[in-house]
Amino acid sequence: MDLSSAREIRDAVAAGRVSAVDVCRAALDRIERTDGAIHAFHTVAREQAMARAAELDSRRPDLSALPLLGVPIAIKDNICTRGVRTTAGSRILQDYVPPYDATVVERLNAAGAVIVGKTNCDEFAMGSSTENSAYGVTRNPWASDRVPGGSSGGSAAAVAARQVPLALGSDTGGSIRQPAAMCGVVGLKPTYGMVSRYGLIAFASSLDQIGPIATNVADAALALNVIGGHDARDATSLPHAPELAPGDESLRGVRIGVPRALLNEGVDADVLTAFDAAVAAMRQSGAEIADVALPHSTHAIPVYYLVATAEASSNLARYDGVRYGFRARDAAETLGEMYDRTRELGFGPEVKRRIMLGTYVLSAGYKDAYYLKAQQVRTLIRRDYDAAFARVDLVAMPTSPIAAFKLGERTADPVQMYLADVFTVGANLAGVPSISLPCGLTPGRLPVGLQLTGPRLGDAAVLRAAAAFERAAPFTDAPAL
Ligand code: GLN
Repeated sequence: MDLSSAREIRDAVAAGRVSAVDVCRAALDRIERTDGAIHAFHTVAREQAMARAAELDSRRPDLSALPLLGVPIAIKDNICTRGVRTTAGSRILQDYVPPYDATVVERLNAAGAVIVGKTNCDEFAMGSSTENSAYGVTRNPWASDRVPGGSSGGSAAAVAARQVPLALGSDTGGSIRQPAAMCGVVGLKPTYGMVSRYGLIAFASSLDQIGPIATNVADAALALNVIGGHDARDATSLPHAPELAPGDESLRGVRIGVPRALLNEGVDADVLTAFDAAVAAMRQSGAEIADVALPHSTHAIPVYYLVATAEASSNLARYDGVRYGFRARDAAETLGEMYDRTRELGFGPEVKRRIMLGTYVLSAGYKDAYYLKAQQVRTLIRRDYDAAFARVDLVAMPTSPIAAFKLGERTADPVQMYLADVFTVGANLAGVPSISLPCGLTPGRLPVGLQLTGPRLGDAAVLRAAAAFERAAPFTDAPAL
């Protein structure tokens, strides 16, 4: 069974041409057959998924209007699922079974989806390669010696390997778009506040946003329609619904800005070739290409790593061995020792590095120089985007300056790893919507991602332009598995 289109699966199930149980079994079989080599999943919820599919089948005629009826979906393991282990890739949550569903999970279930499992990710979503998971690496379906990107590497790999048509990831500084780019699939980070964060295990709350990963733009839009919209349980949730009514999916007259000055350094030549071909294809389709400046973007990486680590150090203070999951029981005589030991054994090296960095930049005497300065420059970065969107409708960049790199290649040098996010963090700092979609392969057959970024609340415009690009330059390759 072809598991690449959520829409086709939904239509087939709704019309009774195939049962939800058969679709679910096909997904579980494919996971079983292919996941030994990829390790996209940390938990496969086989029984729950089959029971859920059977229940949907038994009520099918009544449910046939549901937008995701019978569609198998994978959820990044930092999004809470009631009764299904949720670890955020961390040992400190190794046995954590949430007593509640994240809002996005509730909404997927209400739309008729079948959640088949939880995908591997960097610990607390901190990373760009999924190598920071406490539960082993995920391999890129296109090349098994390469990373899938991160931190939502498991979700992107699962969709690329056609184990599921749709997955959710979270994006704090690129973690949906960058793995989508490296795995040759579509990944959307919505406008900040468009999708509820309730039940997302917090990394950096002013940047975190949940979004879909799919093989095509229409499925990403379908998923956003289901999970988006106001939620009273998230104080930063916007009152707006995504409003993705099918509109004019054309690039004719769409003004697309390319920040050329940013692309001159550090972009791999093969990536740049594919990106330039994508820009040419957009021009061919009637888009007006203009140069735009995002002058403060050169500071985006340092600003991001100051803000994100500061917020993370505060968010992660809650893991103390009392309230969640793992507790170190040995050699602790006092409460303080138990906290220390739990955090020492429960957190991995990258998480510890970030807690230390974040605590430092928030500490008395350094806060003004680092954290507050970073917030000021964040404002300048946001104004750059505002100024750009006064002149153009969308900004185009490569999603990542490099295609998927080899496992282990960057783990020794955290700063090298951080630089993989140079084109993605800006959208999080500015709170604007941004999509990555495949725009070709390198000569070594590794996918390259095109990133289109729009103004705040411009999610529908981003998706329409992406759909038009997809039609103009279809990406039909899939990894051989
Ligand atoms: N790679 C970035 C980081 O390590 C972004 C992670 C994310 O978006 N969750 O922080």
